[in-house]
Amino acid sequence: MCALEKIYTYEEMHGRMQKLAGRYPRIIQLDVIGTSHDKREILSLTLGNPRKVLFCTAGIHGRESVNPIVLIQIMERYAQAYREKAPMRERPYTVCELLQRYGICFVPLANPDGYEIACRGFDRIRDEELRRELKKQEIPAREWKKNARGVDINRNFPCRSYSPQQPGGVSASENETKALVQLFQDYDSIGYVDFHSRGKIIYYYRQAMSGAYNQYSYQLAKYLQSLSHYEIGGPEEEFQTPGSGGNSVNYYSETMKMPAITVETVEDAASFPLHTRYQKETYGEIHYIPLGILSQIAETAEEKV
Ligand SMILES: [Zn+2]
Repeated sequence: MCALEKIYTYEEMHGRMQKLAGRYPRIIQLDVIGTSHDKREILSLTLGNPRKVLFCTAGIHGRESVNPIVLIQIMERYAQAYREKAPMRERPYTVCELLQRYGICFVPLANPDGYEIACRGFDRIRDEELRRELKKQEIPAREWKKNARGVDINRNFPCRSYSPQQPGGVSASENETKALVQLFQDYDSIGYVDFHSRGKIIYYYRQAMSGAYNQYSYQLAKYLQSLSHYEIGGPEEEFQTPGSGGNSVNYYSETMKMPAITVETVEDAASFPLHTRYQKETYGEIHYIPLGILSQIAETAEEKV
């Protein structure tokens, strides 16, 4: 297991994911789902049965540097629990039994260029032209949320709330967006959790979806609250500023009609770059969320059958 006490580079996290997949070849499937504009691979790791999965993504915003390594640590822990046939919390089956029936598809670092900019500066962008354009935006590197083309991925998904960020902007224009859109379509799935920072809050409400959909998502959010002790955001908080739609959770919910929940880790008062002490703390708060929500969704699905 990796120590949760330092800022990992893209290369270090990439290496860890490859090593992890190599260590558990029968449990984990690793795929390169896309390449960023500055030519970094975007990886997905699917743990368990890939025929029906829960998606978990992190690092869509570059500066939110805690969640990617925490998700990698979570995958390591789950793979070990699978192999050891560890029992599930308060449930009559093991991690192995659950993951033989359903999978969890993790994308821990969805925006690797943005992550590198925020953690290590604009000079990490190798493409000279991209680098020149980025510096013109006059945003400090440590505050960087966007990708290497200066586009916020989480405003770029095709859905009802999408609006162009700049004149002539179109949805799904970015490599990172396309990679996730394709991934969502490639698997049969039962839900999606997208990890962001900050606020220790869970957003479940999707304006574009039905009352029954939101009722069910609220139940899941309440369950996640019992695990993490985070707050639950109200319906009015879905779009806090004009033009803040076009999120991955909007696209997923409207296309797949399955629950899509945003979990904001790390206290609201934290400043960027996020201190490494948040890694351990966040792991403690969210490490059971993917497995817990999977079992919750799986059990509800069975009741409906
Ligand atoms: Zn974010």
